[in-house]
Formats: sequence, structure tokens, C-alpha cells
Amino acid sequence: MEKKKVTKIGVLTSGGDSPGMNAAVRAVVRTGIYHGLEVYGIKRGYAGMVENDIERMDSKSVANIIQRGGTILKTARCLEFKEPAGRQKAYDNLRKLKIDGLVIIGGDGSFKGAQKFSEEFDIPCIGLPGTIDKDIAGSDVTIGFDTAVNTAVEAIDKIRDTMDAHDRLFIVEVMGRDAGYIALHSGIATGAENIMIPENETDVEALIDSLNEKEKRKKLVNLIVVAEGDKFGGAEEIAKVIRKRIPTADTRVCILGHIQRGGSPSCSDRLIASHMGYYAVESLMVGRHNVMVGVINNKIHYTPLEKAVKQKQKIGQEWMKIVKILAS
Ligand code: ADP
Repeated sequence: MEKKKVTKIGVLTSGGDSPGMNAAVRAVVRTGIYHGLEVYGIKRGYAGMVENDIERMDSKSVANIIQRGGTILKTARCLEFKEPAGRQKAYDNLRKLKIDGLVIIGGDGSFKGAQKFSEEFDIPCIGLPGTIDKDIAGSDVTIGFDTAVNTAVEAIDKIRDTMDAHDRLFIVEVMGRDAGYIALHSGIATGAENIMIPENETDVEALIDSLNEKEKRKKLVNLIVVAEGDKFGGAEEIAKVIRKRIPTADTRVCILGHIQRGGSPSCSDRLIASHMGYYAVESLMVGRHNVMVGVINNKIHYTPLEKAVKQKQKIGQEWMKIVKILAS
């Protein structure tokens, strides 16, 4: 590990926002200040790096944010950073301020950007997994997942009340373009009859068979939780098929959407964000570079950014079997 003393670090939140990003920013800023570093907040993700929208932060600038959703640094998707010229501009801006270490809080897209940047320039980058989707390898937990999944559970519980009152079939779509963790966890926790995730092929015939079989048994209340990235096309597409094939079912759709990104972070998300934020700065201090800080089996774990973006967490098929048995 090459050791180079850092003195000025930048922190940014990038890509999709997730509850707990503020707690991570707070931890990075205060740990940095504790170690005598100058800490800079980079606004709107990589856009702030490219456009030089960078501000010095002090302890007070992160006061009273640990409980707030969203991100005080704002976030953005920045196309310019995908081009070498954009990254060069970003580097020049960081050099002007003599920033010699970066903490990037974001998802796999943000880590791809960080990895490219760190291959081209000599500024060490540390990634913190800030994503509600939990779609990154190298960590059992990601900042925001716990809050998002609990928001989904709370909403689905409410839907279940009205669904039960009317003997309806509800298809609830939750977030997760590439990863089905929100669907899997919220579906199991709300007693869903079927869960559809991008990791598995959606077997519509098996779904229709199981609904027909349940109808015969007069089990009319059925909950299907589907991830937005489901390969069949999401809740509306599944509803179309069910309405056609089982016209007697009173089929409704609810797409939960962005409420899953907002809200006050759960205790668990605040803890992991604080823990990871602290270790991000420690990592820069000891000369680590281009790694993501994760937690595996309750221990801090470092994964090269390259690996974190290439691999996905795997969903154990055993869970799908459990879903079927418990919902029968
Ligand atoms: P997330 O981090 O939530 O997955 P995105 O995929 O939108 O979000 O990525 C966030 C930002 O990271 C992009 O707007 C872009 O600036 C940068 N980025 C993503 N992919 C790349 C890439 N292949 N090369 C350079 N920068 C990238």
C-alpha cells in the first residue's frame, strides 16, 4: 500500500440519493476535522467537481443533519464526467484547492466514475455504498437500504388492509432496477404470495396457475411484490396478463416510487453511515486508495472499486422457496 499523507479531502454524494447519506457526510467531515484535515464538500456529485462548486466544511456545517433524508451536498447525474475532458476539468479544480483525497458516497455508477478517475489521476478515492438497492458486492449492507425497505413495508401493510377488506389482488411495484432486494425483503416481511425480482426469470404461467389454484380454494386476497427491474416488465405488464387470463380477479396496481428514497434514515442506516464514514477517512489517512468501505459479518471490509462495480450480491434461491411455502 503506497503511503502518502493526505491533508485536504473532498466529499461528495453522487447518483441516486439514499437516506443516511447525510449521516455519512457528517462522519467524514467530523473525522477529517478530528485528524486535522481540511474537508471540502463537493456539490451535486461529479457535477460540482467539473464546475468547481466546492465549499470548505466545518463541524457546524454538518450539525443537525444525521436524522435528515436526502443529502445536504445535493446529488446529480453528470454526463460530462463520463468523458475524459470532463474528468480532466474535475482534476484541475481539485488541484487548485490542493485536494488530495476523495470520499464518494454513491452507487455502482458513481464507483465506475471514481474508478476511471483514479486510474487517470493521482488522487486516492474511497467509496461508500450509498444505495437503496443494495446492488453492490463487498458489503452486507448499504446506506439507505434499511430505511427504504421499511418504508416499503409500511406502505404495503397499509395496502394489505384495504386489499383484505375488498378481497383484491394487488401488485405492488417497489424500486430495484437491477437488484431485487427491496422486493424480496419487503415481500417476505409483508407475507406476499409472489415476489418477482430481476435476478430470476418471471414465470407468468406458474403465476397464473398458482392464482387459479388459490381462487379454487377461495383464497382471494393475493399480494404480488415486483421489483421495477423485473424482466417481464413490472407491475402494469403483469396486471395486464392477469386481467386477461383471470378476469374474475379484482386486480389493482400500486407503484410505490420515490417515497422509498426519502424520509428520516433508520437507526441502522445512521449507524452504518457513521461507521463507514469514519473508516473512509481512516483509510485515506493510512494510504488506502480506490477501495470501497463495506461491512461483512459486522466487520469493516475493503473491496477494490473495480471489483465492487463488477460483481453483484447474490440472492440465495432458498429464499424464493421459503416465500412459496410461507404464502401457501
Ligand atoms: P449511482 O451511483 O446511483 O449508480 P449513476 O449510475 O447515475 O448513479 O452514476 C452517477 C454518476 O457517476 C454519473 O452521473 C456519472 O457522472 C458517473 N459515472 C457513471 N458511470 C460512469 C462511467 N462509466 N464513467 C465515468 N463516470 C461515470
